[in-house]
Amino acid sequence: MVWFRRDLRVADHPALATAAARGDVVCLFVLEPKLLARRHHQAPERLRFLRAGLTALDAELRELGARLVVRRGDPAEVVPRVAREAGAGAVHFTRDFSPYARQRGRAVAAALARERVELRDFGGDIAVEPGALPGPKGAGYQVFTAFFRAWGSHTVSPPVDPPSRLSGPALGSDHLDDLPDGRPKVDAGPSAALALLDEFARTGVDAYSQARDDLAQDATSRLSPYLRLGMCTPSQVGHALGLPGALEEGPAALWRQIAWRDFYRHHLLRRPEVARVAFRPELRSIAWERDDQGLAAWVAGETGYPLVDAGMRQLAQEGWVHNRARMVVASFLVKDLLIDWRRGETVFMQRLLDGDPASNNGGWQWTAGTGTDAAPYFRVLSPIRQAERFDPAGTYVRRYVPELRDVPDARIHKPWKMTPEEQRAGGCRIGADYPSPRVDHSRRRTEAVERYRSARDAFAETEPG
Ligand SMILES: Cc1cc2nc3c(=O)[nH]c(=O)nc-3n(C[C@H](O)[C@H](O)[C@H](O)COP(=O)(O)OP(=O)(O)OC[C@H]3O[C@@H](n4cnc5c(N)ncnc54)[C@H](O)[C@@H]3O)c2cc1C
Repeated sequence: MVWFRRDLRVADHPALATAAARGDVVCLFVLEPKLLARRHHQAPERLRFLRAGLTALDAELRELGARLVVRRGDPAEVVPRVAREAGAGAVHFTRDFSPYARQRGRAVAAALARERVELRDFGGDIAVEPGALPGPKGAGYQVFTAFFRAWGSHTVSPPVDPPSRLSGPALGSDHLDDLPDGRPKVDAGPSAALALLDEFARTGVDAYSQARDDLAQDATSRLSPYLRLGMCTPSQVGHALGLPGALEEGPAALWRQIAWRDFYRHHLLRRPEVARVAFRPELRSIAWERDDQGLAAWVAGETGYPLVDAGMRQLAQEGWVHNRARMVVASFLVKDLLIDWRRGETVFMQRLLDGDPASNNGGWQWTAGTGTDAAPYFRVLSPIRQAERFDPAGTYVRRYVPELRDVPDARIHKPWKMTPEEQRAGGCRIGADYPSPRVDHSRRRTEAVERYRSARDAFAETEPG
């Protein structure tokens, strides 16, 4: 039996390939009502994408002679029950490093052991397994550059061929109605993932290293939702980029981002507490503002800072945001609105198609300065300077904030500086058509630094010696 979770594909699937080589196979996906009820899974767009992905996986399995069996319930009960129905001798699955997945894996392993069914785990979700990168004193890496050096010295296995044929008993399947129906914001499934990868490797990747930060060009791969649900794998990406050969500049830059993805997975595995608290103990007691209205204005893209608003509106429209804009909107929530990064992390999880416990937590803690590789706490991103640097003509802002479409270039990132004549000519009255800035960035910057410093000083006083 193969128990699918976040590995919705048939190619480069070591667990499926191994099970199929041993004989008959039943392919199971468990819909978990308890998991779907969690806050981070109040995520209609990602669940719609998941549903379409499961349908696409079923179609691929049918082409090979099998089908996807969907069952609802607690995996610790469902997996052994289906294994019994199928007469399975072993259950195969892909390793997943999130705290929830590991706890669920342990419960399923214990239940299967009682039935004398073997549970076998396989790689595939990441490029280099944590066991291969123990880090100094076996404690893993806390700094990306050291991790990347070690990571890059490992050979990534070539993608595993899909089984040429599957056979197995026909079992009954539940429906997918717990998941929202309808067309997802992007096409789901392994074929869509591989078509995008192929296209990007042919036409986009050469410009990637120069263009990846340019908001107007929108020149990144957009593979993240597919990687998130395992519709394609890091190994497939690496080999499409040219591995095992030496990589050119663009492909090497993209491959480095896959290393970030691995890095945050390794980190969450070794330090599962970061899912709840700051990685840096000295920054666990920052005095955050409650400010529900500020949070609502941020979510709605109504802060009065054009780049922040463009990023949040891109999130609402597309379920995806450019990495540079993610950094700017996250920094604004934490350092300008002084709102706890965990509230932003939840909003992202609920709205991103690629919402992922490891990368999202890593990105938020990095931006908040509470995580690995953190920039010093007194370095605060300016939403204006970032906009001037990465969206100089305001193209990205105008794409997502139509009220500002006719604002002159010189004012696009500071529309509150428009004179009444300019507002009239640009068809945008500040305070009526577009909000005035919700907070004063330079004042809030000072306040944020003060609050971080207080948390750090208070922590130092409690430390012995
Ligand atoms: C606050 C914040 C939250 C984030 N939340 C998520 C999240 O929930 N899920 C997610 O996949 N990424 C997250 N990221 C990382 C990054 O923004 C996205 O992976 C990237 O924008 C996805 O677009 P792409 O596929 O075009 O990326 P590309 O630039 O084409 O990169 C290729 C792949 O590399 C991986 N990758 C790229 N950058 C990063 C990174 N900084 N950290 C980890 N992996 C990376 C992704 O899998 C991506 O698909 C977050 C970043 C920040 C700053």
